[in-house]
Amino acid sequence: MLTNYRPHRDFDRNVMTEINKISGLKGKLRFNEPMSKHTSWRVGGPADRFYVPHDVKDLKYFLGQLSEDEPVTWIGLGSNLLVRDGGIRGTVIATKNVMDELEIISPDHIRAGAGVACARLARYAVKSGLTGAEFLIGIPGTLGGALAMNAGAFGSETWDIVEQVVTVDRKGKQWTRQKSDFVVNYRSVAKPAGEWFIAAMVGLSPDIKQTGNNTIRELLTRRGMTQPMGEASCGSVFRNPGKDTPAAKIIEFCGLKGKRVGNACVSEKHANFIINLGNATASDIEELIQHVQQVVYEKHHITLVPEVHVVGDKV
Ligand SMILES: Cc1cc2nc3c(=O)[nH]c(=O)nc-3n(C[C@H](O)[C@H](O)[C@H](O)COP(=O)(O)OP(=O)(O)OC[C@H]3O[C@@H](n4cnc5c(N)ncnc54)[C@H](O)[C@@H]3O)c2cc1C
Repeated sequence: MLTNYRPHRDFDRNVMTEINKISGLKGKLRFNEPMSKHTSWRVGGPADRFYVPHDVKDLKYFLGQLSEDEPVTWIGLGSNLLVRDGGIRGTVIATKNVMDELEIISPDHIRAGAGVACARLARYAVKSGLTGAEFLIGIPGTLGGALAMNAGAFGSETWDIVEQVVTVDRKGKQWTRQKSDFVVNYRSVAKPAGEWFIAAMVGLSPDIKQTGNNTIRELLTRRGMTQPMGEASCGSVFRNPGKDTPAAKIIEFCGLKGKRVGNACVSEKHANFIINLGNATASDIEELIQHVQQVVYEKHHITLVPEVHVVGDKV
């Protein structure tokens, strides 16, 4: 049992312990792992434990080993996470490069693991002669993260194409859930408490006109024209307060483009993006988020709700 283990603060961060040596597990466990290595904002303090399971079986066994009071946080590609500078207490479970299987299970259905990158799923669907998943092409996260966020782009959302999901609970038990078990809204999903996604079955349509590759090219071009690609960001920081009121426009009207706190800066190209210019801290970013909210509220009486998930401790 991993019950009472707490790494000492002086523990060498570079030491990676393979838990299978002490418990027979096959995954990799790191202690005091800097979360800045795993988030697209490139900020975030250390996680007490960072577990990369070998596969689903190993994941289930690992979860079964954890004490009931151990906090667990899941991470895909960290492209929608602000991890505070004090880091994350408990265990982080990483799905990137694991649970990454893709399989055609009927002429118009794909089963995809939660660790599959959204772009890979989009390309796989097109290559398989199916249409409906192209919008995922520019979303730089995993399918698991997209399910948790109901990620979307260009008028489509993840749960539009999901029919069934497979989840795992805190004790390592696997569940098959229907779409109706979830309350899905714009960039938010209420799921059964204490369960996380390990796979999904998506339903698509035959791409009779074979437009998939062109659509993918077009969507990537549109993204490149409007978004600061290649910069350290988390995509859109705030949800749009209404269909016809994009958060980016409101922030721009408030004159906040280019506004900085430390090395965090509101993008000049897309005002709903906050960029890490170099060595920003999570605290710089959080302060800038609050500043934007405050100015927008004072000028327009609109409360901007963050789309990004903020986790961890402040220093
Ligand atoms: C340049 C850029 C462009 C972006 N464009 C878009 C866009 O067009 N549309 C859009 O919606 N988003 C966009 N995003 C945001 C982000 O890519 C999406 O929200 C994405 O779905 C997050 O996936 P992830 O794997 O990175 O999740 P993470 O950031 O790792 O996690 C996000 C949340 O999901 C939870 N989570 C992760 N995996 C699982 C799992 N397996 N089971 C349960 N919970 C899980 C985490 O705990 C966390 O709460 C963009 C981000 C960037 C950096």
